[in-house]
Amino acid sequence: MMRLPRFRYVQPRSLREAATVLAGEGPTAMPLAGGTDLFPNMKRRHQMPKTLVALAGLPRLEGVRGSAGKGFSLGACSTLTSLEEHAGLRKAWPGLHEAVRSISTPILRNMGTLGGNICLDTRCNYYNQNYEWRRAINFCMKCDGDTCWVAPGSDKCLAVSSSDTAPMLCAIGARLRLVSRDGERTIEARELFARDGIRYLTRRPDEILTTVDLPPVDGWRTAYRKLRRREAFDFPVLGVALALRFEKDLVAEARVWLGAVSEAPLEAGEAAKALAGRPLTDDAIEAASRLAFPVAKPVDNTDFGVRWRKEMSRLMTRDALRSLRNEPA
Ligand SMILES: Cc1cc2nc3c(=O)[nH]c(=O)nc-3n(C[C@H](O)[C@H](O)[C@H](O)COP(=O)(O)OP(=O)(O)OC[C@H]3O[C@@H](n4cnc5c(N)ncnc54)[C@H](O)[C@@H]3O)c2cc1C
Repeated sequence: MMRLPRFRYVQPRSLREAATVLAGEGPTAMPLAGGTDLFPNMKRRHQMPKTLVALAGLPRLEGVRGSAGKGFSLGACSTLTSLEEHAGLRKAWPGLHEAVRSISTPILRNMGTLGGNICLDTRCNYYNQNYEWRRAINFCMKCDGDTCWVAPGSDKCLAVSSSDTAPMLCAIGARLRLVSRDGERTIEARELFARDGIRYLTRRPDEILTTVDLPPVDGWRTAYRKLRRREAFDFPVLGVALALRFEKDLVAEARVWLGAVSEAPLEAGEAAKALAGRPLTDDAIEAASRLAFPVAKPVDNTDFGVRWRKEMSRLMTRDALRSLRNEPA
């Protein structure tokens, strides 16, 4: 049985108190939301915070506010189940609904939160193992060692971003509010993620993600497709997130993002350009799918063969685009 290491548990009564504790403790403290990723990581001795600052129950961190027309604001501590069951959100942003619905299992979605999913640790075959397994290979660069076993010549860690909501929020153009003792700042979702398996977020250790702001729907249609070994539940080994804004029959703007093929979600900008300003015809879909293909550069850090995952980026982009053509405006 894997046991949790010792840690101090702090249950603040306000966001300000939580931010003060995080600022005072430094990087040895971490925010705790549902714990569905952090606790397994602590059991495997990947992440060893001395202090956990509980976010559950803090005022205004939970719940969905706003509307499709004005834009929704999602509390970062909203459980994935509460978002999945929100009818207005589902209708407005079906791609986000699909991404949330595909995360882990119903029981884990009852505990797991949106903020925890966005701030999810990167994953790798050589990292997501117990301590003894990792010690047997002399550890890896991401934790306790020096070598990235995915590419031993690499000077950076190649662990993969495995969040389902991250690419979708980038495609939607969501904005994230981060609060620290110094105040609040707002960034684009795309600005949160960094292409480094170890320093995978630009969030400072003392910052708490409080809110995810979605823009007004305003003609945007979204879709999410996920590749995983077990359909019942599994982390993505590829995620395709699409957001297309239609004006009558034309695609006015397009955003194509790929998840789980790099240390951060990747934008397929050329694929998006190939879609903009034209109707969503078979030819446009084919051209965009081919342009998404070179963006995906999966390496051997997770399940399935690398070439097949790459080929699937083309096929799943095509499938997702076709689904948007059939959706009523
Ligand atoms: C069996 C299993 C299957 C899973 N399958 C999937 C899957 O298919 N797709 C997927 O995306 N995930 C999956 N997960 C991972 C996890 O369950 C989800 O990502 C979940 O949303 C994490 O949320 P949480 O609230 O439990 O985060 P926690 O575990 O509490 O935290 C995760 C990280 O985020 C940080 N954090 C949490 N909230 C905040 C905040 N508000 N501000 C700043 N930092 C914060 C924590 O410090 C920690 O580093 C799976 C997990 C398990 C155990």
